[in-house]
Amino acid sequence: MLENVIEFFKNLPAKVCTVCGKEIEEQHECYGNKCDDCNIL
Ligand SMILES: [Zn+2]
Repeated sequence: MLENVIEFFKNLPAKVCTVCGKEIEEQHECYGNKCDDCNIL
């Protein structure tokens, strides 16, 4: 069921930017632990 998939992702630990502490969306694995804003710097 879809709800089970959503719950699964909710239970995953959120990745947080090591620079500003903002939650990172799981789409830039290659950049490590920085959010988009901090990656441009
Ligand atoms: Zn950041």
